Amino acid sequence: MEVLLANEYGFCFGVERAVEMVEDALGVGAPVRTLGPLIHNTQEMQRLECEGVATIQDPEQVKPDEIAVIRAHGVTPLVQLELEKRAAQVVDATCPFVTRVQRLAERAATEGRHVVVAGNPDHPEMIGVVGYAPDNTFVVRDAEEVANLPSLHAPLVVSQTTLKLQTFLEVAEAVRSKADAEPQVVNTICSATRDRQDAARALAGMVDAFYVIGGKHSSNSIKLLAVCQEQCAKSFLIETQDEINPSDLSDAKRVGVTAGASTPNWLIDQVIKRLRELGNPGNGNNGHAN
Ligand code: SF4
Repeated sequence: MEVLLANEYGFCFGVERAVEMVEDALGVGAPVRTLGPLIHNTQEMQRLECEGVATIQDPEQVKPDEIAVIRAHGVTPLVQLELEKRAAQVVDATCPFVTRVQRLAERAATEGRHVVVAGNPDHPEMIGVVGYAPDNTFVVRDAEEVANLPSLHAPLVVSQTTLKLQTFLEVAEAVRSKADAEPQVVNTICSATRDRQDAARALAGMVDAFYVIGGKHSSNSIKLLAVCQEQCAKSFLIETQDEINPSDLSDAKRVGVTAGASTPNWLIDQVIKRLRELGNPGNGNNGHAN
């Protein structure tokens, strides 16, 4: 049995960078506290907890001898200031793609312009962005919500980094009717999610079974599963290699593997190793999951 990995899979640039920054911070020797869970992967969070990383929910929980970490979603400037006042050190792991949205919003607000962000107003990334231009920014989920906005002055239109392009384009179009000047439209969507989906789609038609490794509640992993299922009926979302059912692979000649943007490489390696054991009867394995 051949095991084929999608061309794009696993940690996105921003998450990989954040995890590396946390590991560097651990090297300092002080307790490390991340404001909110660093990533949405139970196994990786457990690994980091064993190394001494704890999650806090509020900046007030940081102690003066601790290192506070801002995760890839970013925070408002006020929250950052609060962390800087309380912690021994602040590690800012805001993804540079998110920082770009924050800076664009901040600059437009300084110029007295309105900012419309297409995205989920309850998402931590959006809460952080609004904090950079609180009096001038509106977050809308879709084009329909633009109808509820007041008249907009020389608006900037940007997007939550993980939004669908179509939704962003529809919002940008709808903003025109509310604006007193041609809106400045800057596409700030990050390609990580789309790249993983495109790579999974390209592989799904070539395999007999497909494993998506990721959290059961991870929205990008669930979407990856849906993409695989379009072409491969035997597509499964698993968190670890223990969830592989050997009977699903009885007739499989080729198996595809991909992983969500919060899935670490060590979990992916374990799944691939298990699949290779199951697909190679010569290695003495009896074909049952351990
Ligand atoms: S999905 Fe994109 S914007 Fe979000 S953390 Fe990853 S690389 Fe950064």
